[in-house]
Amino acid sequence: MPMLADPSIKYKPYEPLNLQNRQWPSKVVKKAPIWLSTDLRDGNQALANPMTIEQKTIFFKTIIKCGFKEIEVAYPAASDTDFNFVRQLIEQKQIPDDVWLQVLTPAREDLIRRTLESLAGAKQAIVHMYNATCPCFREVVFRNSKEETVALAIKHTKILRELTDEYSAKYGTKFKFEYSPETFSQTEPDFALEVCEAVKKAWGKAGLGEERIIFNLPATVEIAPPNHYADQVEYFHSHISEREKVAISLHPHNDRGQGIAAAELALLAGGDRVEGCLFGNGERTGNVDIVNLALNFYTQGIPPHLDFSDLQSVIDVVTKCNDLPIHPRHPYAGELVFTAFSGSHQDAVKKGFEAQRIRHAENIKKGENQYWDIPYLPIDPADLGCTYEAVIRVNAQSGKGGIAYLIQQHLGLDLPRKMQVSFYQVIQAIADREAREMRVDDITTAFRNTYKFGGSKYEGRLVLKSFKVSSEPTVDSAQGETDEPADERRLFDGSVSVDGVLRVIRGDGNGPLSALLDALRTHLECDFVIREYSEHSIGEGSNVRAASYVELVRGDQAVKDARTSTESWWGVGVDSDIAGSGLRAVLSAVNNAIGDRALPELKLNVGFNAKSGQADVASAILNSLYLELPRGLQASFFEVVQRAARATGESISYTDLIKLFQETYNYDLPEATRKATEISLERFKLQDGENGKKQLTGTLVWNGKSKEASGSGVGPLSSLVDILHKEIEGILTCKHYSEHSVSEGTEVQAASYVELSYELPGQAKKSSWGIGLDTDITASMLKALLSSVVGLDVVRKNVVNGQ
Ligand SMILES: [Zn+2]
Repeated sequence: MPMLADPSIKYKPYEPLNLQNRQWPSKVVKKAPIWLSTDLRDGNQALANPMTIEQKTIFFKTIIKCGFKEIEVAYPAASDTDFNFVRQLIEQKQIPDDVWLQVLTPAREDLIRRTLESLAGAKQAIVHMYNATCPCFREVVFRNSKEETVALAIKHTKILRELTDEYSAKYGTKFKFEYSPETFSQTEPDFALEVCEAVKKAWGKAGLGEERIIFNLPATVEIAPPNHYADQVEYFHSHISEREKVAISLHPHNDRGQGIAAAELALLAGGDRVEGCLFGNGERTGNVDIVNLALNFYTQGIPPHLDFSDLQSVIDVVTKCNDLPIHPRHPYAGELVFTAFSGSHQDAVKKGFEAQRIRHAENIKKGENQYWDIPYLPIDPADLGCTYEAVIRVNAQSGKGGIAYLIQQHLGLDLPRKMQVSFYQVIQAIADREAREMRVDDITTAFRNTYKFGGSKYEGRLVLKSFKVSSEPTVDSAQGETDEPADERRLFDGSVSVDGVLRVIRGDGNGPLSALLDALRTHLECDFVIREYSEHSIGEGSNVRAASYVELVRGDQAVKDARTSTESWWGVGVDSDIAGSGLRAVLSAVNNAIGDRALPELKLNVGFNAKSGQADVASAILNSLYLELPRGLQASFFEVVQRAARATGESISYTDLIKLFQETYNYDLPEATRKATEISLERFKLQDGENGKKQLTGTLVWNGKSKEASGSGVGPLSSLVDILHKEIEGILTCKHYSEHSVSEGTEVQAASYVELSYELPGQAKKSSWGIGLDTDITASMLKALLSSVVGLDVVRKNVVNGQ
């Protein structure tokens, strides 16, 4: 059947109580009520699978831990499980001395007796008896008149009085009596009062303090707005006799979704006590949620006398024992309640935290309270054991403020506004693409990946390895004639790893950053200019570091275009040195800009006005071949390079440079391309000879012909020169020798460098360098010397003799 156009033909509105001069609307609650947890009774009976004794025991301990002093644990006459649970608590002494155990019984003699039996030996207990009082139950369910209903309540109250006296005498148990006119909210207010007055009289010993009789006023089914319940409670509160000897207990259910409101208004109306369940478990829509109520008090600055400092552990126990989840948007406890997805909320929360930090610092100085005041967060999540990390989560609808806040919290970076926008687009793209919510880790990882930030794991294609920034006055004749100090040019000189290969680059500009950009333009054809730059410090004292942010735009466009270009790339750098952080930020942005684009081969400019010098050539050799060329060889090879580069527009690529080196020194070339004039000494031996000299013997192989040879000298090199002098015209002199070890690759080798000069009468003196590499140091020396001989065009004796 569809919903009715006119529901008044089916549903009757509630009949308002004509309460004159009601007081509760203008009252303010100043203290928390007495709490009773009925999780193990009203909550438990509503479960598809009621709790086992083990589950009840765990739940009971949790309730105790939360600080409840009155706990309704069972309906002992209803089931053996409940009866045995009460026995266990008492016999195993699981009830703290200040906690009152409460059990429920209907107004029936046998059940009351059984209930009391379960309590034998208890230190203190509340016996809760109920009978239904509303017209519907009186007339339909029990077919009792009002008089019969009152008589039933009186009779069983008296039985209970007798039995409790008996148990008190026998076990020393302290008893409180709680009576519920069940379905109070649907009972005529005067009749509810009449029954309760009769019960109070029958009980006969209502007193002050712990002696108060508890009248529990259930909204067994919530059938009216909460103001109606409040009116009913205020009517009861203002009409019951000996009010001071009565504790008014509230028992709201939540059928209209107003259980919390009903409890709060009824507390204004005179309620002293609230019965409910953690997170609102209970029949149908549940009992009132005591966690919610208690935390509502807490956020008003009123101690609730319940402790939810570790709310999650309470949630874990309750959801496990009840086998019911908590709604993600449940007040205080839902997993989404301390999160803000929308951008404007995230931004407000971020600003709120910043403002509060400043405000609290002031408060501390003045000795004032540090009040919590954050937009959209009525309670500090930390008070409930939640971390701020949970405060902001990001989905495709989220804003940049929240993301910026997370980056600030986790990486210490205060992103410039435009960079926030830029990174926000990165995150949105990921969130859209993967159709999921982004968590803190996802966001910080995306940041590191995007900006190549934070350690080798996130390195980009260009990595700054070392750098030097120096300055030199501008050579400018016009400025030289004024008294003003000349502008200084900055020179950047550093090694940058480019796709894993170390390269030396150099450039100049007005400052270190423009000098680096100049170097990138010159050596890598990466042409960018800076549009925005900012920096801030991170940390304090000796740990202080600089964070720099750079926005780059393409450098090959007009200045006006550069200012308005929509395409730009951001970068970030952190370094203990401010120049270092700026340079890193530039490389971060360049990495971002180049993406996967192939970089041109790094070229050395070696012509006139050369940007690259001898040292660059040397470091290229070092990085490619692991050879640390001695200075003389550097100079010598640089001349070779310059000669070769003249043909190619005064620049030379790295590949060509290395090839040129190998060919020039006949070094490490494939067999086929080696010079035919190769010369070697095979199976050599170096022994001590006469007069403290060394004796070198071996098979000399020269132009494919071999002969046994021997010579002597102070060491291997002079011994080899001695051998060679027997073979050639003219004089060889060893001008330089040096060596170093090379540990790249599997085994350590020795690299030797020899410079030989050659004099032949009638010819100009020549000299040549040779390089040898071998695991044996002597072999590497000999190889180096022989390699230098190759470059000298020596005149052979045997050739002259025509042999
Ligand atoms: Zn109930």
